[in-house]
Amino acid sequence: MLDASPPDARPFICRFAPSPNGRLHLGHAFSALVNADAARRLSGTFLLRMEDIDATRCRPDYEQAIRDDLAWLGVTPDAPPRRQSEHFADYAAALARLEGMGLVYPAFESRSDIARAVSEQETATSRPAPRDPDGAPLYPFPRTAMADRERQARRAAGAPFVLRLDMAAALAAAGGPLSWQEAEGAPEGPLRTVPADPAQWGDVVLARKDVPTSYHLSVVVDDAIQGITHVIRGMDLFHATSVHMLLQRLLGLPAPVYHHHRLILDASGHKLSKSNAAVSLAALRAAGATPEDIRRRLGLAEPAYPTPST
Ligand code: GLU
Repeated sequence: MLDASPPDARPFICRFAPSPNGRLHLGHAFSALVNADAARRLSGTFLLRMEDIDATRCRPDYEQAIRDDLAWLGVTPDAPPRRQSEHFADYAAALARLEGMGLVYPAFESRSDIARAVSEQETATSRPAPRDPDGAPLYPFPRTAMADRERQARRAAGAPFVLRLDMAAALAAAGGPLSWQEAEGAPEGPLRTVPADPAQWGDVVLARKDVPTSYHLSVVVDDAIQGITHVIRGMDLFHATSVHMLLQRLLGLPAPVYHHHRLILDASGHKLSKSNAAVSLAALRAAGATPEDIRRRLGLAEPAYPTPST
């Protein structure tokens, strides 16, 4: 039988993954629209994910507001949202697998212990301590600073802890260089291979005593479970992709294509923040802006969606 499928019949599944801890602003609108427009243009699927693992900051009324803002923009997900807070068992399973591989250890230093060690190190060496791509100092203690047996005893005794990835051991277990495919210019643009360098993040936190996952862990688990083929998100997460490549390799998860889009900046060149009410969609809408005005302000053309064939 003749194969009647078009030349590129691979599915296209993307997602917008906001945290419901505030109102959406123009930067979120841009990301949501780039995702939804690509799904429409490429006859793909657009999914919504609520990244709500932080129960102290995320609220159901923010989730509703996000859904209302998206509907107003004309962005309609093709399925009900996946809420991370409803899937802790999935992340726990991934974490248990990494722990079983000996790649995760409990660490007990508080934020101020870490800050003190970093500043002592800077004083002793007269040089800035090594920092991650977001500018935060790397975790300054080696895993070997405490015997594994003592770590487990303290954890069992109920001490507060975070679970860290042993980066050196994880890189060894990954068994070779890591890279990802970055779509240039547009989600369907030409692919460039980007070498991943997870070591620049040091021993990242994968879970906390009271939150059994982290952004890095849940994002790779969810992208796999939701069958995401194209991760379309802001440039601010470009370097985090290195960590995601490592976790995907260790957990045997498929690697989507990535497209990191430009960021929407304020007049002084800074990334927009949820605390800046002036750029919230709600405020712009209340001031009379239409969804077309938002698109124009973001430099997005009107969507020219193909008419569905019958
Ligand atoms: N939840 C993340 C954010 O709001 C986005 C995560 C992602 O797209 O990978 O910045």
